[in-house]
Order: sequence, then C-alpha cells, then structure tokens
Amino acid sequence: MAKMHFKYASMNSGKSIDLIRTAHNYEENGYKVLIMKPAVDTKAEDSISSRIGAERKVDILLLYSDNILEVLKNKLKDISCILVDESQFLSTKQVEDLFLVSKSCNIPVICYGLRTNFKMESFAGGKRLLEIADVLEELTTLCSCGEIARYVARKVGEIFVQDGEEIIIDGTENITYVPLCGKCYLEKVNKIDLEKVKEKLTMED
Ligand SMILES: [Zn+2]
Repeated sequence: MAKMHFKYASMNSGKSIDLIRTAHNYEENGYKVLIMKPAVDTKAEDSISSRIGAERKVDILLLYSDNILEVLKNKLKDISCILVDESQFLSTKQVEDLFLVSKSCNIPVICYGLRTNFKMESFAGGKRLLEIADVLEELTTLCSCGEIARYVARKVGEIFVQDGEEIIIDGTENITYVPLCGKCYLEKVNKIDLEKVKEKLTMED
C-alpha cells in the first residue's frame, strides 16, 4: 500500500531540490507526478525554486480553504506520485485528505516541509504530518557552528526575534530565516547562558 512521507527539515536543507530531483526520477522512467504547493508561500509563485538554481512548475497551487478531494477530482489518472512543497502550510484537514488519497488510490504522497516555525513550535499542517505520515525522514543542514541544524530562527535585520506573526515569507519586512542547532538556538534566540545553567546544575551546596 502506498505511503505518505513527511520529509521535514529546517530552512536551506535542500527540500526543494530533493522534490525536483524526485519528480525528475519518476519522469525519466516514464511516470507522471503531480506537484502541489500551498499558495501562502509566495516566494516563487507557481513554481518551486531551489537555492542552487533548479526550478520547477507547480501543477496545483492550494488555498488554505481548498478541499483537496475536490481539487484532485479527475486529476489522478496515471499519476504515480504526489509531491507537496511547503507542506507545513497545509491545513490539518488537507493533510488528512492527502493521507486518504494515498490509501484509497494507492498513490504515494511525499510532503516536504518545516518541522517547526521560528518559535520552535509546530505549524498546523506539519504537526498533523508528524502525527499521521507513514514515514518520517529528516533532511539536514548545518548550523554555522558545524552541528546539525534542526530549528529555524527569524532575524529582523541582524537581530534574532522571538515574537511576531507565524508566517512571514523571507525577504519581506527585512526578515530572514537562519537554520540553527539546539544549542545555538538557546544561546542566540532565547539568550540563555548555557555555561551558567551548567554551573547551577553542578554547583555543590
Ligand atoms: Zn549551532
């Protein structure tokens, strides 16, 4: 039976290039894929772009209110795989409907997305994917310190911030996103002095 996959990661971990490569692999072998993306991600409009230059047109741009079962009606003939970019922005219901599609039509669904937002919290779609996907796979990238970066931090200008709206696309309002490891997140975003914490924890009375 076809599986639903959630390939999750921080920013800049090659999610889009992995999606583009997967689509290419299917097509090279004569199979058809369907590529979807939530419309909230306005970065590349109706295409998926990777930082290393590859670009790919999206077949369906999804609105948050879209009913996936309606959207996919009569569009799954000969489709061997459904690929979803920025799947953290899907609604809970949309994730559940994609799971239903994978099982009822026996088509694998591969969702790419962020594990957490800049506050280290789940997005609605990402949370549901972590709960119900058959296969979870982490794609990794490196923190500037050399450790694996699993979290995303938001910068306004040069300053790390902890507050603000959940979804602001990078590049707008002077905002950028930075992949960080857990230690660097605590130090740089939460401004916690880890040495002090250790001292407290190991201090003898
Ligand atoms: Zn780090």
